[in-house]
Amino acid sequence: MPKKTPLRMCLGCREMKPKSELIRIVKSPENEISPDPTGKKPGRGAYICFDANCFKRTVKSNALSRTFNATITEDIINRLQEQIEN
Ligand SMILES: [Zn+2]
Repeated sequence: MPKKTPLRMCLGCREMKPKSELIRIVKSPENEISPDPTGKKPGRGAYICFDANCFKRTVKSNALSRTFNATITEDIINRLQEQIEN
């Protein structure tokens, strides 16, 4: 039996994808939202494809602020964008 790959949903395109194809964004217990390239930070996580279009859709639809119930500042958006484009 092949090992099952855990799937997560991208907030942009809403497709289920293996975690390796997504970037994790985490809201820490201190309510700080940041990209989590290691996937190991504690807190509530959300996932977006490594794709600028998915990221744009996520920002446009406010999916992140709804998921985290928090305001997504320009600063956070810039940091996430950096991660996705690298
Ligand atoms: Zn996507």
